Amino acid sequence: MGYTLQLDGDTFAATENNGLGRELGKIVCVGRNYAAHAAELNNPIPTEPILFMKPATAAAEIGSYFSIPSGRGSCHIETEIAVLIGSELCRASESQALDAVAGIGIGLDLTLRDLQATLKDKGLPWEKAKAFDGSCPLTGFMSPAADEDYAKLGLVLKRNNVIQQDGNSGQMLTPIISLLSYISEHFTLMPGDVVLTGTPAGVGPLDPGDHLELELKLAQSTLRVSTEVVAKAL
Ligand code: ZN
Repeated sequence: MGYTLQLDGDTFAATENNGLGRELGKIVCVGRNYAAHAAELNNPIPTEPILFMKPATAAAEIGSYFSIPSGRGSCHIETEIAVLIGSELCRASESQALDAVAGIGIGLDLTLRDLQATLKDKGLPWEKAKAFDGSCPLTGFMSPAADEDYAKLGLVLKRNNVIQQDGNSGQMLTPIISLLSYISEHFTLMPGDVVLTGTPAGVGPLDPGDHLELELKLAQSTLRVSTEVVAKAL
């Protein structure tokens, strides 16, 4: 795929240009990390993080547009704070996890919701619904401030000029840094891996032609991205 994360000033851009970038690794995701989202899908609130993964082939750049699969039923958007890992984490403490954050951006956990419901009913894994090619569109990544407060990051999705998701990391059941440490007890995180930290309430289906505005607020900088949804066969 040649998808890399390229250092551009102090921002890691999600780009297919191989230039100076480092290769993107796996994407580790957490399910139901916001209570209000668990409730909207009638799921119980988990007692510990629910983890799943998307392969590097799931990554796609959020440019002027990104693609959703056509003919696969409803494709939901879950807008999530994405963390780019900069150093290896294996059974890491929270302070090691804090030091390993190389960038903060926005990732979309695209989910074929009809297919996921069928898989869940049968007790089968979710990968076909969540790990398909292009299932993780990513923005570029901003460098966090040295004293970044990871409990105060704001995340907004506007769809066709209407606010659909409006959350902040203070609402997470497992906060970002604790989550990185927890993940590293199960899977070693490597430089270039990305962690999606769960979605606030307000998930819903995307349609081709939708115009999306994504916003991520850090202490000292704000990332704003406008993009459009197109449908494409997988
Ligand atoms: Zn998600």
